[in-house]
Amino acid sequence: MRGKIVTAKMLPDVQNLIALQQADREILRLKEEIAALPKRVAAIEERLAGTKAVLERARTAVKADEAARRKHESAIQDQQQKISKYRDQSLAVKTNEQYKALLHEIQFAEQDIRGSEDKILELMVNAEIREKDVKAAEAELKAETAEIEKEKVEARQRTAEDEKQVAEWNAKRDTARAGVDADLLRQYDRVSRHRGTGISEARDHKCLACQVMLRPQTYNEVRAATQVVTCESCQRILYHDPSHDEAPDPAVVARRRRAHPKFESSQAWYYRPSFEDHGEVFLVYFNSKGMSSRHVYDSSSGRGLGDVLVREGEYRLAFPEDFGDDVIRLNGNWTESELEEWGNELPTATLDALHRDLDLARVESRKRGHAREAVASEHPAAS
Ligand SMILES: [Zn+2]
Repeated sequence: MRGKIVTAKMLPDVQNLIALQQADREILRLKEEIAALPKRVAAIEERLAGTKAVLERARTAVKADEAARRKHESAIQDQQQKISKYRDQSLAVKTNEQYKALLHEIQFAEQDIRGSEDKILELMVNAEIREKDVKAAEAELKAETAEIEKEKVEARQRTAEDEKQVAEWNAKRDTARAGVDADLLRQYDRVSRHRGTGISEARDHKCLACQVMLRPQTYNEVRAATQVVTCESCQRILYHDPSHDEAPDPAVVARRRRAHPKFESSQAWYYRPSFEDHGEVFLVYFNSKGMSSRHVYDSSSGRGLGDVLVREGEYRLAFPEDFGDDVIRLNGNWTESELEEWGNELPTATLDALHRDLDLARVESRKRGHAREAVASEHPAAS
């Protein structure tokens, strides 16, 4: 209990809302993951289509080259036939002019053949490169096809696993929703729709979701966990996790010995387990110039209760009805002007200090009780 002065409790509604928010978050994450998987498969399929197109172009180029080669080969045959025809004719010519003309035609045909032979050679060199292109594209296609099959299997498995988890979270979500008051659930749903989340942790006087500083009373009320409190800035329902509070230095805790409140002082703090219609309260009295004043605060929220009362005389005499057997005197030294500055709510640090002192006062009174019992049992006649 030491250090966790106010409370470690949490309202059941709030506990369920925390569970609900976790379920909502997980369901959203899983659904996003399920939606993303087909997109990943589609991206690989697109790459696969690109590789197929490259392969298709490489194969088309090979075919075009083969056709070109066949065309050149048949052109060579044609020219060779022409040459042999010219040779036959040259045997039968009558004039030198005719002979020269035929020789000229033969030279032309031979030139054509050499041109075609050069082209064929070029195509043959090219064919080696084209063959390599085709082989590379085929290998890539094979690898990508294997990869996409693997991806598809993984995507199917992952989707099935995600869907199973979604079903589990949905069940948890239903349970959590069933455990929350209907009005509160509507508030949570409304804020969630607009802001993505409906509940936020309050830590170090701040709403962690919107980072706005909370008023001391609001923060104290969240910590007290006796009612549902919302952030005035973002409307999220607030909760406090005591395990996130800064742990007190153990050395300081061990050394701590309670100072005894001075009997005569201008200021006196008290705790009462019940006060008028309220439950537990802290009271502070000030004595000044023959007058005394009284402030009352709710002990869990630090909220001021009722008006400040001023009466004539020293406080014990002025407020006799306040001093029953269950009253506990506490240490406290804050000036009246500090109190005025706080307004109608005690700062968290003040509230914590009062609770700490109250705990120590209770421990002390228990020890005194044990001591009395021990004395009584040793000397039965004395009691
Ligand atoms: Zn907020």
